Amino acid sequence: MTPTRDPPSTRADPRQLQVMEWVTRIASAALPALGIAVLVGWQLQAEVLKSLLHPGGVAMNPLTAVLFILCGLAVGLRRSETLGPGPVWRTPGTALGGSVAILALLTVLDNLRPGLPAVDALLFAEHLGANRMAPNTAVNFVLAGGALALLDRRVGGSRLFVQGLVLTLGVVTLLSLTGFIFGVGAFYGVEGYIPMALNTALGFTLLTLALLALRPGREPMATLVSDSAGGMTARRLVPAAVVLPLLLGFLRLEAERAGVFGFETGVTIFALATTAAFLLLIWWNAQGVGRMEAALGRSRRRLERASAEADAANRAKSEFLANMSHELRTPMNGVIGMTELLLHTDLTPQQRENLTLVERSAEHLLELLNEILDFSRIEAGQIELDPVEFDLREALGNTLQALALAAAEKGLELASDVDPEMPDALVGDSGRLRQVVVNLVGNAIKFTDEGEVVVAVEPEQVTESEVVLHVRVRDTGPGIPEDRKKEIFEAFRQADASTTRRFGGTGLGLAISQHLVELMGGRIWVDSELGRGSTFHFTARLGRGRPGEERAEAAAESLEGLPVLVVDDNATNRRILGETLTAWGMVPTLVPSAKEAEATLRRAAADRSPFSLLITDLMMPEVDGLELAERIREEPDLPGLPIVLLSSAGRIVESEREEAGGIARTLMKPVKQSQLFDALVKVLADTVPPASGGAGGESDDEGEQARRAVRILVAEDSPVNQKVAQRLLERRGHRVVVVENGREAIEALGEDVFDLVLMDVQMPEMDGLEATRAIRRREAKDGGRLPIVAMTAGAMAEDRERCLEAGMDAFLTKPVRSEELYRVVEDLASHADSPLNEEN
Ligand code: ADP
Repeated sequence: MTPTRDPPSTRADPRQLQVMEWVTRIASAALPALGIAVLVGWQLQAEVLKSLLHPGGVAMNPLTAVLFILCGLAVGLRRSETLGPGPVWRTPGTALGGSVAILALLTVLDNLRPGLPAVDALLFAEHLGANRMAPNTAVNFVLAGGALALLDRRVGGSRLFVQGLVLTLGVVTLLSLTGFIFGVGAFYGVEGYIPMALNTALGFTLLTLALLALRPGREPMATLVSDSAGGMTARRLVPAAVVLPLLLGFLRLEAERAGVFGFETGVTIFALATTAAFLLLIWWNAQGVGRMEAALGRSRRRLERASAEADAANRAKSEFLANMSHELRTPMNGVIGMTELLLHTDLTPQQRENLTLVERSAEHLLELLNEILDFSRIEAGQIELDPVEFDLREALGNTLQALALAAAEKGLELASDVDPEMPDALVGDSGRLRQVVVNLVGNAIKFTDEGEVVVAVEPEQVTESEVVLHVRVRDTGPGIPEDRKKEIFEAFRQADASTTRRFGGTGLGLAISQHLVELMGGRIWVDSELGRGSTFHFTARLGRGRPGEERAEAAAESLEGLPVLVVDDNATNRRILGETLTAWGMVPTLVPSAKEAEATLRRAAADRSPFSLLITDLMMPEVDGLELAERIREEPDLPGLPIVLLSSAGRIVESEREEAGGIARTLMKPVKQSQLFDALVKVLADTVPPASGGAGGESDDEGEQARRAVRILVAEDSPVNQKVAQRLLERRGHRVVVVENGREAIEALGEDVFDLVLMDVQMPEMDGLEATRAIRRREAKDGGRLPIVAMTAGAMAEDRERCLEAGMDAFLTKPVRSEELYRVVEDLASHADSPLNEEN
């Protein structure tokens, strides 16, 4: 039940509210004035005053006058409570209304049982004699007093009761007025009583109007004061519907009485006049509605125009941003590529440091560029998800490993904790999911000075075909003040303006993440306690993929029931390792330091229940993981056992020390579950440490020997970018020929033999797309298929599609990163079946 019943689309017209205001004001002054005049009249025996407004008519009963005074005051008070401090006025207003109702009720009872003492007879005995207030008047006051007392009360949960009282009063009053106008005494008098005075009837009319006007938000006034076409129609027709028949009827009656025309003529004229008057009214009203509609139509068209203009402006803005970021990417290619090349030359330490700063700044600039581009695409609604099947633990592990260096540099523990119940094979946009995780973990690392960053994933809901995953990124950073928690998800907002200066950033990351998460059917929020840290949460709805081969069941069996000792000073890491190992059926014992590890190992040896494996963290206070390993090797009373070492990114463990400690395997934290699993299975199967050591063992040179040199044609118009591509590829041992545009590329292909083409898209004379189409057409005739890789600064999905449509095989976004370039080129070249290769 709502207090007002007007539909939400219509509002009250302020002018009409003003009118209502005036009605209550007038009533609160006029009713007491009328009552006082009548009382004075009774006191002075002045008939003019007693029958005020109706000279020569019936006088108003003095009790009626008193009740009108009380009603007038009550109206004034109940009006005031909506203006100032309500409660102050509410109680006296309610009390006055209540007294009116009680006094009137006593009079009604007296009328029913004439033996009882009558209120008016008691108060005004000397004036009234045997005369009493008429019962219809008394009933009217019961209604009016009741309405004033109960004005804002709900009866049975609704205000219908109060409005019912007011409307009943209105009907009775209208009846009396009609009786007066047409001279039908039975309508305003009750047999045996003095009939109602005309001024009394007029007083009730004003009182009814005031009661309706006091709360204009309720029906029927809500419709009458609304600014809608309905309100306008009601305002025009309601008064006419009341007044016209009364007026015309009165005129007809008077004319008939005066003998101007007879009964039949009177009825006919009355009917015709009413019809004509209403036709006129309806026509007037219809015109008003028509004008209103026309005005509405005009404003709707204006709105449509404005919205179309806004759309166009928005499109232009996104296009501008996309173009600008495209233009900026091309020179960035030169900056990043050249810097990378320079870093591989002989430099003084100072030069190297300066150049590293250049590289970092360029990377940062590129990040900003990507964020702005992403954001403008989100705004333009251009981002679409690209679902693929992926392996959750693998993808998360890769993502976190990419962030591990940043965490290690700040001395932060970075750990991931995937619930064993979480299905692994998922279908979703893994790239976008990664983007969100990178942003949240990146922020956590950025804002946390010491402690840990933990990413936890658990399923919130799992069905046959879908999983809702819940990801938590918890840090031990500064936390976020309560009042900024919502704002940080808005674009360009940061929790604390000073952080921008300290940490850099656009304030776009979270806004982008929020959009992406919502696209994935999830939501994002943050819990935080100032000074203790923050936990960012997000959910996403993903499809389930075909579960890959369950991790070799046989291998799992080999871990089943094996006792394993875990040493890590970080409690979160210990717990995660413990849960993971338990999920694989192993029996882990968790200890926080090397010292306790030694004690536990000694105890186990004494109990003849030795551990099968030791997993130790490298960086621990007092005795670190390597020292622990060395002591196990040296101390005769410590039983030997295979050791897996968990080291942090950026901390290379020298292979001599590894060997000295008898480390079976070194894994880089954060460790992917699959990696750890494979490592454990392998280490247990063969406790002799593998020659290559551990992760990060493969050096560039080793890879280079195994690699086959690829003959590459580079078509690129920018001289700087030509150099970047050529040098990067040549450094890797590939053979490169450079041409300036598409046409030259086609010529070069006719003259020489290549394994692959790197093709810029925008080039003068003949662009990359056209050249590719021409090459593919020729191949359709001659056979073969040469891999063509697009290089473009356009990072939009359409750019990619256009390239693939033209017949290209892969797509590199500028600025081209060396690893990405090598991966794509070498991958394609090794799988190519070009006839050119065979000819050679
Ligand atoms: P940016 O990091 O580029 O400033 P974001 O949208 O990623 O933009 O973050 C917005 C703001 O939210 C940050 O500037 C920072 O004030 C606050 N914030 C985000 N993550 C954290 C966190 N883990 N701890 C504390 N503050 C954070």
